[in-house]
This record gives sequence, structure tokens and C-alpha cells, in this order.
Amino acid sequence: MCESNCMRKYVIMGVPGSGKSSQGALLAADLDLVHISVGDIFRWNVQHHTKMGAQVRRIMAGGELVGDDLAEAVTAERLAQHDWNYGFVIDGFPRNARQAEFFLESYDIDSVIHLDMPDSEVRRRVLARRLCTGCGMDYNLIQAQPKEDGVCDVCGGTLVTREDDTEEALVVRLHDYHDKTDPVLDLFRRKEYVAVVDATPGKDEVQQAIRDSLRLPPYKPGNAAAS
Ligand code: ADP
Repeated sequence: MCESNCMRKYVIMGVPGSGKSSQGALLAADLDLVHISVGDIFRWNVQHHTKMGAQVRRIMAGGELVGDDLAEAVTAERLAQHDWNYGFVIDGFPRNARQAEFFLESYDIDSVIHLDMPDSEVRRRVLARRLCTGCGMDYNLIQAQPKEDGVCDVCGGTLVTREDDTEEALVVRLHDYHDKTDPVLDLFRRKEYVAVVDATPGKDEVQQAIRDSLRLPPYKPGNAAAS
């Protein structure tokens, strides 16, 4: 258990659709960690039509990675807010060797959680994903249908498909992941940071497996706000 002066810093990695964001949010909620999703920050900028949003929209929709300078600046700026008194869990960064180097220069981390999922499951999951335009809640139509088609159960917002959750963009994202992000995992593995968790079971089971492998207090479903 965490005594005084406790600080936990985790990175979550995994193929698109492996549940990085949902698991990051569950992990952060009752451990008082700040959950940072670099993809969410970019999506927020696209949705709110900021200058950065205009810069990254097409790149993201095509499934490609945005430039390292921008991804690094966004991550550094978010972490510089220093609102993470008990630590953070970050997903979507680092995604290539250069970003990993940048990250490790500034932050020491306790563990990298690798959500392990075969590519064959990715397509099924990602193409069934819907996102609420109101509150950002993530739906997977395979596991849970909203009560009313296309409408968020929580806030009544409209459910849409992410622009990059298409067959074409997925091919690019998966290719990039194996080409650029796999080597980052190898690097972390050599530093013995990596906890591998099977990402194929349901949300709660995966969360419990993460807690077990990091020797954290057990997960209590319903206590934490899921994203
Ligand atoms: P996923 O991991 O499921 O592909 P994310 O929501 O993490 O999706 O990211 C969505 C998109 O945001 C990426 O495809 C990419 O265009 C951009 N992005 C997120 N993080 C980074 C990063 N660290 N470097 C470059 N681009 C990024």
C-alpha cells in the first residue's frame, strides 16, 4: 500500500482499441492519479476547432501520428501543470523511440502497463466503438448497446464513430504501432518496467489484472468513474 509521499507514475501501451484510455481512467480514479490521454488532448482540440486542431485533424483522421515536436510539446505542457500530486497514468505517449527518449529524460516511471491484444481482435473492437460528443464516454457496441440507438445513456449526447476508426485508418495505425511503438516496448522491457496484461477479457477483469500485476489495492467496480 501507498504510505505518505506516495507517487506513482505509469505509462499504458497497447494496440488501438486495447482499452488504454478506459483502463487508464479506471486506474486513475480511486488512486488519485491524473489520467493523461494524449489522443484525447488532440481530439479536444479538433472538436473545439483550435489552431492545433486544424493542424492535426487530417493527420489523425488518416490514422497517422502527428509530428514529434507537437506531441512532445503537448505532453510536456500537460505534465508541467503539476496537478498530479499522487502521480499520473499516461496513455498515447511515448509512441516512438524519439518520444521515449524525450520522456525518459524528464520523468522516471514506475511501470509500463502493456495491454496485450492480438491484431485479429483490434478490427472487431475498433469498428464497434462509438464516442459521445457530449461527455466523451466510450461505447463498445459489442459489449454494451446504449438504451437508445446513437444516444449517450449518461448525458444524452450524440454517439459518433471516431474519424480514425475506419478500416483504412486502422491499417495505418496498426502498421505504425508495430513499426514504431513495438521498439519502445522492447526498450522498456529491457529496463524491466513492463507489466503485461491480457486485454481481451471484460473491462473489470482487465482492471483487476492490472492492479494485481502492479501490487495495487484491489479494484472495486462501480467505485471509479469509467471513461
Ligand atoms: P489509438 O492509440 O487508439 O490509435 P489515441 O486516441 O491514443 O488512439 O490517439 C489518436 C491519434 O492521436 C493517433 O492516431 C495520432 O494521430 C495522435 N497521437 C496521439 N498520441 C500521439 C503521439 N504520442 N505522437 C503522435 N501522435 C499522437
